[in-house]
Amino acid sequence: LQHRSYATPTAEKVAKFKGQKQSDGKYMVSLIEGDGIGPEISQSVKDIYSAANVPIKWESVDVTPMLKDGKTVIPDSAIESITRNYVALKGPLATPVGKGHVSLNLTLRRTFNLFANVRPCKSIAGYKTPYDNVDTLLIRENTEGEYSGIEHVVVDGVVQSIKLITKDASERVLRYAFQYAQDVGRLKVRAVHKATIMKMSDGLFLSLANKMAKEYPNIEFDAELLDNTCLKVVTDPSPYNDKVLVMPNLYGDILSDMCAGLIGGLGLTPSANIGDECSIFEAVHGSAPDIAGKGLANPTALLLSSIMMLQHMGLTEHADRIQGAIFKTLAEGKTITGDLGGKAKTHEYAAAVIKNL
Ligand code: NAD
Repeated sequence: LQHRSYATPTAEKVAKFKGQKQSDGKYMVSLIEGDGIGPEISQSVKDIYSAANVPIKWESVDVTPMLKDGKTVIPDSAIESITRNYVALKGPLATPVGKGHVSLNLTLRRTFNLFANVRPCKSIAGYKTPYDNVDTLLIRENTEGEYSGIEHVVVDGVVQSIKLITKDASERVLRYAFQYAQDVGRLKVRAVHKATIMKMSDGLFLSLANKMAKEYPNIEFDAELLDNTCLKVVTDPSPYNDKVLVMPNLYGDILSDMCAGLIGGLGLTPSANIGDECSIFEAVHGSAPDIAGKGLANPTALLLSSIMMLQHMGLTEHADRIQGAIFKTLAEGKTITGDLGGKAKTHEYAAAVIKNL
């Protein structure tokens, strides 16, 4: 089942997870269009959803950072919208390098405690890459590790960034990974780590993984060193097709881009940021300033992120229909964007997807 790769199973008992249904039967979803190519690719999603009669009403959310008590914060209206709707679709947000405001992506993940980042990479039929059978599924801890944001100057010329690993955050993401494996029937979980070097931090993550594995006796569990995983994935990705990989934050960020490279790049890779209270779905790629405003962007990654969102909300029929149209359009190869070797503009590709619905 194709769509299984994009599933984000959640605890069925948390009904609100599925989004906020209105009296007219439609669901409100917060939409952060984002920077750079964000508005262009968001428009494609809106057009395709409207053509496919998906019962979703988009609530546009502005996340332009504001200064509050000397700190950069997300406007209250954005937080209220996502809190109210439980589900958001997000375009890329640019982050200044080395200085300026903190990453809004990180701020969103922290504000809503989006502890698990699910990143599937699946070969796209018709799009030629060195391997045509990639189906990796990576779950990344999303709130701490090297991304804890704790950095300081020790003395002139010496700086320190803290890699923070806690039992709580590790257990939360590990439980999500094991439960995910259980729910989608992908019954092998592999923890990826560097506990040989970071004996305490990754060591804690690994020992908690080993412990949790005992609670899931039907799931096969093992562990692998990150460098080994990198080597093996690019040499032959097929042994990873039946596994759920779970790992600390930075490793997941980098390894998932590597997997994205195996299937044709960032224009094709979706992700989900899952929390207990709400979830935000977004493409793995950034704001692509080099092509922004030119109508050249590939909206597939954001579209597939929205497919993950529909799966998550239980709107699987709509998810299957739109996903089918996307894959058909890509497989036909006539109307594809420049990053995939085609000549189509963003809106022409969206129109071709609509035709294939
Ligand atoms: P990027 O992902 O924006 O771009 C890398 C390359 O991939 C560029 O050549 C770009 O043109 C291409 N590309 C990316 N998405 C594409 C698409 N949909 N269609 C066609 N081509 C696409 O990475 P970057 O240039 O390193 O980052 C730009 C900005 O985005 C930075 O400010 C960065 O902080 C931010 N960023 C945001 C997120 C996010 O919002 N989650 C993620 C990564 C980067």
